[in-house]
Amino acid sequence: RPRRDLTRIFLPHLVASMEQVDQTYIMIKPDGVQRGLVGEIISRFEKKGFLLKGLKLFECTKELAEEHYKDLREKPFFPKLIDYITSGPVVCMAWEGVGVVASARKLIGATNPLQAEPGTIRGDLAIQTGRNVVHGSDSPENGLREIELWFKEGELCQWTQVQVPWLRE
Ligand code: ADP
Repeated sequence: RPRRDLTRIFLPHLVASMEQVDQTYIMIKPDGVQRGLVGEIISRFEKKGFLLKGLKLFECTKELAEEHYKDLREKPFFPKLIDYITSGPVVCMAWEGVGVVASARKLIGATNPLQAEPGTIRGDLAIQTGRNVVHGSDSPENGLREIELWFKEGELCQWTQVQVPWLRE
């Protein structure tokens, strides 16, 4: 009896399960809120097709800002960075999707807005590193860590976009 080609049966599932769904923490910084860029920035991620899981306008404490940026604690600009992030409300977002962490970093652009490509958020909307309007997690691990840090239980929603069949084949 000929052996069944198991790869034909199992590979599609394997490939599908290897497409890891990531989460990223995106934050519109106080300058983005003050400059009226909230709708514009959210809209870029929305139009791309990622799934919005959490969203809030929020005034963060110094402690939370310091925990969020703890890897930069030794940098000379750290105190200024904490003053900046706590200078007004921020918009906190959790986005989900395959490759969302890396893709969001591309949509956001380089840390220094003068080096960020036109078409990116920072490239289009900002001119200085110290006022670069938006944050995006730099790895899937940090995406999870930061979402846990900025959102409480019950603040994230499980839902399915009606557009899914038009985003993924
Ligand atoms: P990114 O936000 O692009 O991941 P980093 O993790 O290197 O960049 O830095 C975090 C944030 O710290 C930057 O987005 C920016 O707001 C601020 N920052 C970084 N470098 C400087 C600098 N040289 N001067 C002032 N602020 C800085």
